[in-house]
Amino acid sequence: MRGFFDKDQFSSPGYKSQKGILSCASCGLYKFAMSPRMKPYGKFEKQIMIIGEGPGEEEDRKGKPWQGKMGRVLQRKYRQLGIDLFRDCVSLNAVNCRPVDGKGNNRSPTDHEIACCRQKVIAAIKEYQPKVIILQGGAAVSSLIGYRWRGRQNGIMTWRGWTIPDRELDAWVCPTFHPSYVERQEGESEVRVIWTRDLKRAFTKLEEPFPSYRDERECVTITHDADGVLRTILKEKPQYLAFDIETTGLKPYNKEDHQIVSISFCWDGEQAYAMPFPAEGKGLVLLKRVLVHSKIGKIAANMKYEDHWTNFLHGIEIQPWVFDTMQASHILDNRPGITGLKFQSYVRFGLLSYEEEVAPYLKSPSSNAPNKIMQLVRDRQLFNKLLLYNGIDSLMTYRLAKAQIKELGWIT
Ligand code: URA
Repeated sequence: MRGFFDKDQFSSPGYKSQKGILSCASCGLYKFAMSPRMKPYGKFEKQIMIIGEGPGEEEDRKGKPWQGKMGRVLQRKYRQLGIDLFRDCVSLNAVNCRPVDGKGNNRSPTDHEIACCRQKVIAAIKEYQPKVIILQGGAAVSSLIGYRWRGRQNGIMTWRGWTIPDRELDAWVCPTFHPSYVERQEGESEVRVIWTRDLKRAFTKLEEPFPSYRDERECVTITHDADGVLRTILKEKPQYLAFDIETTGLKPYNKEDHQIVSISFCWDGEQAYAMPFPAEGKGLVLLKRVLVHSKIGKIAANMKYEDHWTNFLHGIEIQPWVFDTMQASHILDNRPGITGLKFQSYVRFGLLSYEEEVAPYLKSPSSNAPNKIMQLVRDRQLFNKLLLYNGIDSLMTYRLAKAQIKELGWIT
C-alpha cells in the first residue's frame, strides 16, 4: 500500500533496534573483517538476487559472497536447476561483514547486526531492482521480512516455500533454507527435497509478470446505508458472500459488555462494503434474511467467530456456510502459524500491515474481556478507519477464498 522506498528508514519503528542507532559504528563487525562492507557480487543476467546470512572465512578473504563450501553447494544446486549462480544472480548477505566468535570462527549474525545492515540490503534492492529475491535462511528472512511483520515472529519453517509478490519491494520474495542447514541433514533428506522444490518454484516466477494491484483502500465503500447494501445482496443472490465483523472482544458471552460494532461484505472480489452493525429494526431483519438465505453461500476467515457472535447476540443461525479460509489454509498447508488472514494476505497478495492503525484497539486483555474498540467507535475519523479495515478484511477473505477454491480444484 505505501511505497517501500518512500518510508523514512530511520524514523520507522522497524528500523530501530533495542540497542539504538543502526549504523556500522554501532554494529562494529567491520573492525574485524578483512573485506568490510562486502559489495553485492554477480552479473545478474536473470535478475535474481540472493540474500545469504553473512560472509564466512573464505568469502572474507576473497571479498566475494559464496566462495567457500556453502557457495559450492549452492552453485551445484542452482546449476542443476538451470541457473548459474554468478552469471544469472547477484549475491549479498544479511550482514556484509564476517561475524566471528571469540575464537575467530564463523558465527551467525545477531538481530542487532542484521538490523544495522538492513539499509545496505534495501539499497542493493533499490539499485538492482531484481525480479526474484531468494532469501537463503532465517537471517535473510529477518533482514527483509521480520521487521515488517507484526504477527508472531515465526522462523524460516513458516516462511519457506512461499513466493511472495512483495509490493513494497516490487519483487517476488522467495524464502528457503540456507545451504548449511541442508548440508547438516543426513543423506537424501526430506529437507533436500523441499529445498529443491522451493527453489524451482522461485525460478518459475522469473517468467511470471509481477501482478499489478489496485490499492485496497479504494476498493472499500464505507456506508451507513446497511439496508441498501443488504437489499442489493438479496437481489443479486451471489453464490459466495464473504463477510466479517468487528466486535468488542474475543468472546461474546457477557451480553451486557459485548456488541458487534461493524460488519462488511464482499461478493465479487473487487469492492467491499463496510458499515456500522445493524443491531436493530429493519436493518437487523434484512441481515437475518441475508445470513440464512439458502442460495447465498457464506464465507469467512474463521467462520466460528462470525457464527458465534451473530448467534449468541442476535439469534441468527447462519446457513449455508460454504467456505472458511482458515480451514482451507490448513488443508492446503498444515504448518502452524499460517492460517491467519493477515499472513495469507501478505504471502499470496503481497499486502502488509493494513491492520496497523486499528490493531492496538482490537486486542483483548483476556478472552472474555472488552477491547478498546469503543474508542474508535466514538470518534468519527477513527471509526472510518475501523470500517476501512473491516472492509479490507472481507475483500481479502473473498480473494483468498477464490484462490484457495481454485487450488483445491473445487468445481463451482
Ligand atoms: N554463507 C552465507 O550465508 N553467505 C555467504 O556469502 C557464504 C556463506
